[in-house]
Amino acid sequence: MKELICITCPRGCHLKVDEENGYEVTGNSCPRGKEYGYNEVTNPKRVVTSTVRTNSREYPRCPVKTNGAIPKEKMFDAMKLLDDIVLAVPIYCGEKVIENLFDTGIDFVATKDVQ
Ligand code: SF4
Repeated sequence: MKELICITCPRGCHLKVDEENGYEVTGNSCPRGKEYGYNEVTNPKRVVTSTVRTNSREYPRCPVKTNGAIPKEKMFDAMKLLDDIVLAVPIYCGEKVIENLFDTGIDFVATKDVQ
């Protein structure tokens, strides 16, 4: 039995996920918690936020995030990929920084304009 706190909304329900009984979720107050508990135990994913270097003296780093959730075990590998990148200004919010991370169909995108 895994115990989790649902982070889908501020209520923070305490969930139990029974791995030996078809991943049955209890403790949730709504269907979103059931889905969260099931996914968190069977295939946890996260949206990743970080920064990447730029060639701008004024703004040497640009914030980036994944435009969807990637497998949790790939988070640190994804951030390592950013270490090798230097973006050339101008950079536009929404611009793809790395496409199709680990064949997930998810990209790293800039979250700010840097001129
Ligand atoms: S189970 Fe529903 S009500 Fe409870 S924290 Fe999750 S989303 Fe919020």
